[in-house]
Amino acid sequence: MSKSGVKPEKTKEYLERYMEGVKKRNPGEPEFVQAVFEVASTIFPFIADKPLYHEMQILERMAEPERVISFRVPWTDDKGRIRTNRGWRVQFNSAIGPYKGGIRFHPSVNQSILKFLGFEQTFKNSLTGLPMGGGKGGANFNPKGKSDLEVMSFCQSFTTELQRHIGEDTDVPAGDIGVGAREIGFMFGQYKRINNKFVGVLTGKGLEFGGSKMRTEATGYGAVFFLSNMLKEAGLGIEGKNILISGSGNVATHAAEKCLELGGRPITLSDSGGFIICETGFTREHIEWIKILKEKRRGRISETADEFPEIRFHEGLKPWGAVGDIAIPSATQNEITKEDAQNLAKNGILLVAEAANMPCSQDAVDLFIENNILFGPAKAVNAGGVGVSGLEMSQNSARIAWDSDHLAKLLEDMMRDIHTSCVEFGRESNQSSVNYLKGANIAGFVKVADAMLAYGHV
Ligand code: NAP
Repeated sequence: MSKSGVKPEKTKEYLERYMEGVKKRNPGEPEFVQAVFEVASTIFPFIADKPLYHEMQILERMAEPERVISFRVPWTDDKGRIRTNRGWRVQFNSAIGPYKGGIRFHPSVNQSILKFLGFEQTFKNSLTGLPMGGGKGGANFNPKGKSDLEVMSFCQSFTTELQRHIGEDTDVPAGDIGVGAREIGFMFGQYKRINNKFVGVLTGKGLEFGGSKMRTEATGYGAVFFLSNMLKEAGLGIEGKNILISGSGNVATHAAEKCLELGGRPITLSDSGGFIICETGFTREHIEWIKILKEKRRGRISETADEFPEIRFHEGLKPWGAVGDIAIPSATQNEITKEDAQNLAKNGILLVAEAANMPCSQDAVDLFIENNILFGPAKAVNAGGVGVSGLEMSQNSARIAWDSDHLAKLLEDMMRDIHTSCVEFGRESNQSSVNYLKGANIAGFVKVADAMLAYGHV
């Protein structure tokens, strides 16, 4: 490397060497390696003429979590049998604030998935402009089919260990897949019992005990605000567009609700059993019914087709073969493969906005970008959730509660500002298009990297 930086032709070689090291140090962790590659492939060209970042080994340090905690979670089922799961908390990066990121309960959870999520979260939290570091946690526990008592038993045991590692100024977890208001309530209650402290140590709490208005809606609404900004930047609008959404949980249902409110036509939703389609677009009544089905009755999306004749269910399929203008994957990682991306492109998709975390495989992302399909990466699109979580932390610290209108305005402004940062760093040299992936990665990177430089060799 010369004093003026890395020669552009050397960037590829540096990236390859760096990724070899990441793979070697993280064997059997493909999701984590995928997430690091996605960021590093845009950061290496950016820092080519910034030798300090190379000399200070910033990317090497950023790809290493500050701490990974793994622990046993014993609990008792309704038959009195003792069951054992594994829990984790990945405290990835605290350069710009306390670790912050959700807790996921799903049988697929493992260290690779939580490290990828914690890594991503670091950049996402930086993008919000709020002082939050990155973390993620969870367990390979499946809440599906469990009674409330079993879920409580699990959450209390999980928190009995987790509580010693978290705190309102240290690490503030939230919900994610399989962790909603019920689970956060059980965990916050257990934290409070053990510590005898009522503090904002978790976000996504019930409104009765320190939760923030708009937090439930924030990720889905924020995603639609972000994609509306992308459309506006391209001289387009959401009105009348057919929108394919996957998932039917918190993010998917609120994204569908906001699309409808802004004049878009959400036509699909899904779960792991298949997808539903309503050619004329879901109504407010459909969405409300699905929210109750999923949150309260904990039912399957197929039941929607039994209730409403205008809705059809396609068992075992994902929505990506349907024809639409906009896709909002809102279920899980790698749910859009290269083949799905080819189908979407063939059917004329205009824009893909990642509301879930890393829902598109790397080759799917490449295909969208190569075909000039507007692509909004997760760390920008779904940052509204953690953004309002950050505002929940502020309200808890100040012991106040803002009203919905104020928070809705803050969320909308935050998503607009994130969009502006992505455009600033992602504008291509031809000036006519924006690479949002590059823009989000660089905008998120700079703040964290500069804080780490200020701290010395940490
Ligand atoms: P959720 O309420 O638990 O809903 C998850 C949805 O995705 C369910 O419909 C679920 O179907 C489906 N799903 C999960 N795993 C699947 C799989 N392997 N194959 C097909 N479908 C699957 O979770 P959520 O909070 O909406 O989170 C959805 C995504 O958004 C996740 O990637 C999460 O990390 C991300 N995210 C969430 C937030 C937030 O505030 N909640 C913030 C930022 C990012 P089943 O019921 O059949 O499992």
